[in-house]
Amino acid sequence: MNTLPNSTPPTRRPICELPHELVSQIAAGEVVERPASVVRELLDNALDAGATQITLRLLAGGVRLIVLEDDGAGILREELALAFQRHATSKIASLSELESVLTMGFRGEALAAINSIAQCSILSRVSGQNHAYLLDGRSGELQPAARSVGTTVEVKELFFSTPARRKFLKTDATELAHCIEAVRRHALVRADVGFAVWHEGKLVAQWRRQPATPEALEQRLADVLGADFVTHSVALNYANSDARIRVWGRAGVPDMARARTDQQFCYVNGRFVRDKTIAHAARSAYEDVLHGQRQPVYALYLEIEPTRVDVNVHPTKIEVRFRDSREVHQAVRHALEDALAAPRAALLGATDITHAPDPAPSTPATPIYTSNRPLELAASTPYAPYLGAKSETSGHRVQDVALLWPPSKTEPVWPLGRALAQLHGIYILAQNAQGLIVVDMHAAHERIVYERLKAQLSAPAAHNDARPALVSQSLLIPVTLAATAHESATVQTHSETLHTLGLDISALSASTLVVRGVPATLAQGDAVELARAVLAELAQHEASGVIQRAQHELLASMACHGAVRANRQLTLDEMNALLRQMESTPRSDQCNHGRPTWRALSLRELDALFLRGR
Ligand code: ADP
Ligand code: MG
Repeated sequence: MNTLPNSTPPTRRPICELPHELVSQIAAGEVVERPASVVRELLDNALDAGATQITLRLLAGGVRLIVLEDDGAGILREELALAFQRHATSKIASLSELESVLTMGFRGEALAAINSIAQCSILSRVSGQNHAYLLDGRSGELQPAARSVGTTVEVKELFFSTPARRKFLKTDATELAHCIEAVRRHALVRADVGFAVWHEGKLVAQWRRQPATPEALEQRLADVLGADFVTHSVALNYANSDARIRVWGRAGVPDMARARTDQQFCYVNGRFVRDKTIAHAARSAYEDVLHGQRQPVYALYLEIEPTRVDVNVHPTKIEVRFRDSREVHQAVRHALEDALAAPRAALLGATDITHAPDPAPSTPATPIYTSNRPLELAASTPYAPYLGAKSETSGHRVQDVALLWPPSKTEPVWPLGRALAQLHGIYILAQNAQGLIVVDMHAAHERIVYERLKAQLSAPAAHNDARPALVSQSLLIPVTLAATAHESATVQTHSETLHTLGLDISALSASTLVVRGVPATLAQGDAVELARAVLAELAQHEASGVIQRAQHELLASMACHGAVRANRQLTLDEMNALLRQMESTPRSDQCNHGRPTWRALSLRELDALFLRGR
């Protein structure tokens, strides 16, 4: 299924008046609001004609003059006049064609509407003709003219006869910005077409035509949205199980999020759209990794069977209607979630190495960390269970850092590197091939614990009749806590939920609770604190369905409680284990609240800080 427009010129069809029944089926309404609306319609027409190079020239933000030149198929001399006629189009001829339309246009109204509010002309030549013809939209006068194959549409003095509407236009600079935005939207989906925008004789935007390679879209995204967008985004490529929907494109990493939604581009079958379903699906895919009210950035391309999407609901076609919006929601959400879940440490540019590590110290000490020693952690440390501990081996402390050897050639390439030290009990410093990695220890560990809890709750249950639940571990010595009446009541109301969360809490007396079991993942934490935190959270909910509704909040606060606290001294082994877990834990680049868990400072950046190599 390839429903996207491509650059091979479609076989030219005659322009015909639409039958009356069909006209009445077409979403009616005003299409020209400002110069950018004209630009959008002319761009659509040029792309429908198979153009590979499009040049836009503007005067006064497009209010005084819009000229769009393309190298498309052109319009036959006999049909030029029809192009200006209302409800005349070459793109559809029947209802069934309307229902599966793939061209950008189909209403046959744009040129007629533009001609009624501005002074228009079309200059066009088809291949096989010796010259072009120029048609004046006002007078209807047709004359031979010079031009290569393709079409030039000229639109002068927009709203010249309706000064009231002209007054609503903004400054030239604003109108120009809207026009450029219209070109950007087209450029982002047609890497195979070159675009140039001139304003008052100056080239203000230009995106070169990309050869048909797999990197074409990436290159175009970099050209239009900036190289930063590409380096700080992940590629997505998703098809739902029945292959009715494909989603691809790039999604900005959470760090790239902005205050506004101005960098969210969505396309359905090659058409730029604003769609609530898609926006909502995207928003919910980012929910677990985005901080507060920040807006993600993305360019999403959806390909759907044309009969499953109705483009004929809005005069400018910026809105569409899906036959099954749930399937669209799921596809977009999954596509983004999959792409965002993978830890991104592995994407750190291996090309960043600007110079070799300093030579080894002249009197090498015994390396305290070598790759062939398994990552074993002291079982006696409180956080060992989270960090995958096995036995007490060598718990080296931060002070030993100076003894470290430079990385050996045979050492596996770990994206987040080898731990060097702990900084003020808050940050882990590590060295990787590119430079320095700084990890927010608590934030990172919180995410690891959170993801582990989530995985346990979504894992299929061992027995068919049992619901998934967190694995509980009995405490050797049950602990008691003085409870308020409110807390005791919560224990009763939410007994089932507590069980699901792996917490064994019951009343010992009217004012005392006893905790006999906690989730195994959190077994080393403070059971009383954990119980209090969960009860406080549960108290805000009615009994049934808490787990469904508030699962993420519940697990997040449990994880926060169970994660390694600031000021806890970690051994290098523990730090390394944490780094390795980050590399394999989904969404580990953000903590549960959407803040970054690690940052990298490349040697290049460090050199710049010290003005080295200048
Ligand atoms: P629509 O695009 O909905 O068909 P328009 O009013 O935009 O309606 O254009 C009317 C017709 O004029 C189109 O169907 C097409 O055949 C022809 N046309 C318009 N612009 C171009 C162009 N740049 N190149 C070739 N044909 C064009
Ligand atoms: Mg059109």
